[in-house]
Amino acid sequence: MKHRGYASLSLWHDTCDDEWRLRPRLGGDTDLDVAIVGGGFTGLWTARYLADADPSLRIGIVEAETCGFGASGRNGGWCSALLPTEIHSMHAAMVDTVDEVGRAARADGIDCDYAKGGTLTLATNPAHVERIRAGAELWLDAEQARRRFDATGVLGAAFTPDCAAIHPAKLARGLALAVERRGVRIWEGTRARALRPGVVETDAGQVRAEIVLRCTEGYTPTISGATRAVVPIYSLMIATEPLPDDVWERIGLGDRETFTDGRHMIIYGQRTADGRFAFGGRGAPYHFGSTIRGSFDLEPNVFDDLEAVLRSLVPQVGSAAITHRWGGVLGMSRDRTASVGLDRDSGLGWAGGYVGDGVATTNLAGRTLADLVTGADTELTRLPWVGHRSRNWEPEPLRWVGINAALAVAAHVDRREARTRRPDRVGTAVLRAIAGGAPVD
Ligand SMILES: Cc1cc2nc3c(=O)[nH]c(=O)nc-3n(C[C@H](O)[C@H](O)[C@H](O)COP(=O)(O)OP(=O)(O)OC[C@H]3O[C@@H](n4cnc5c(N)ncnc54)[C@H](O)[C@@H]3O)c2cc1C
Repeated sequence: MKHRGYASLSLWHDTCDDEWRLRPRLGGDTDLDVAIVGGGFTGLWTARYLADADPSLRIGIVEAETCGFGASGRNGGWCSALLPTEIHSMHAAMVDTVDEVGRAARADGIDCDYAKGGTLTLATNPAHVERIRAGAELWLDAEQARRRFDATGVLGAAFTPDCAAIHPAKLARGLALAVERRGVRIWEGTRARALRPGVVETDAGQVRAEIVLRCTEGYTPTISGATRAVVPIYSLMIATEPLPDDVWERIGLGDRETFTDGRHMIIYGQRTADGRFAFGGRGAPYHFGSTIRGSFDLEPNVFDDLEAVLRSLVPQVGSAAITHRWGGVLGMSRDRTASVGLDRDSGLGWAGGYVGDGVATTNLAGRTLADLVTGADTELTRLPWVGHRSRNWEPEPLRWVGINAALAVAAHVDRREARTRRPDRVGTAVLRAIAGGAPVD
């Protein structure tokens, strides 16, 4: 029997060939060499590469729910070279990482529907053209873009080959099994309360380990001592029923290209391996005090907006049913810069702050954390995000006011640009000024 609670978390959880049975909880105080907190992509990739680098290490993962419960199981499945950072010298490492995810999954026998079709960033309004074209590796004119994806009102598109569409829950669940095969212990249903040098305090006992790695991304504020390190930002998604082949022939996306457009309030989509649209976007509010609740995943207005955008962007969808609606939390650091690090003195390490770009980045983080733990001096440990410290978020109510104001301005600027069909330069400047780290573009 499937564990209905977990199987119903998202399209991906529902379509994963998995029983969603919980692994055992921690059974009391335990000694390890490396304790990893969080069984998402960050924790799982770290465990995988670390176990390969030094099979003698005693490695364990403490997971509050089940592996792949968080953003790693629920996301848009863009395994992309995007990296949220002010640091621009990491692009080559990210491009390699997109391929490494496919390679590593294959090596571990994980079929996660990996298809490297690239990404189309559509200009669907004249206001988008300049913004998108400025950063484009390759610009497709309207006709070229429509041949790939016949969406409404396409005026052109940027294309990059550096993205694969994946089924994220298949990858997360497959990775959990792959690390267990390497001897890594996983305790599920076990919540860490506090991390201290040498100790993870959980609700089921203490884990003592020389190295303690925090891999909890959007959930980090729930851990004592890390409440302002990142904020949890909600991203919500919908999925259609599988569409017939003749409809896909009219739509395109034949290489399973992922897609977005030029609006400020991010949207993102993919054609799934089983022929659906999985389509998501921001716009759900930030909740006071960085509170996280299952019910916050479900915002009817945001789902309605997403459905309206999808149906107007791709009218070929017709009356196809929306079969799944879900959401999850991602983590955003104050300077929107992802980072990874290990403090040698305390033995405490972390990786996160990927905003909406963690699917591939977690792999780079995992390989890097593994090198940091083993003390290897590699190209990865010299990357500029290693050891970067983002400052803490402001205390409330400033966080709440700032983040929700940025969301409101982003929606306003998009509405204005949709109406005037011209770039709202003032609005965009205001947005950048007040966002300074908010979830908008
Ligand atoms: C709806 C949505 C769409 C997204 N789309 C994309 C996309 O298309 N491309 C992309 O690159 N990125 C996307 N992202 C972001 C991406 O999914 C994340 O950056 C990435 O999965 C983060 O992985 P993680 O392992 O660091 O965190 P998570 O996957 O969130 O894992 C953290 C784990 O820690 C566990 N945990 C939490 N607290 C505790 C505790 N106290 N003790 C023990 N365990 C704990 C949680 O249960 C969870 O399993 C999206 C995110 C969301 C929510």
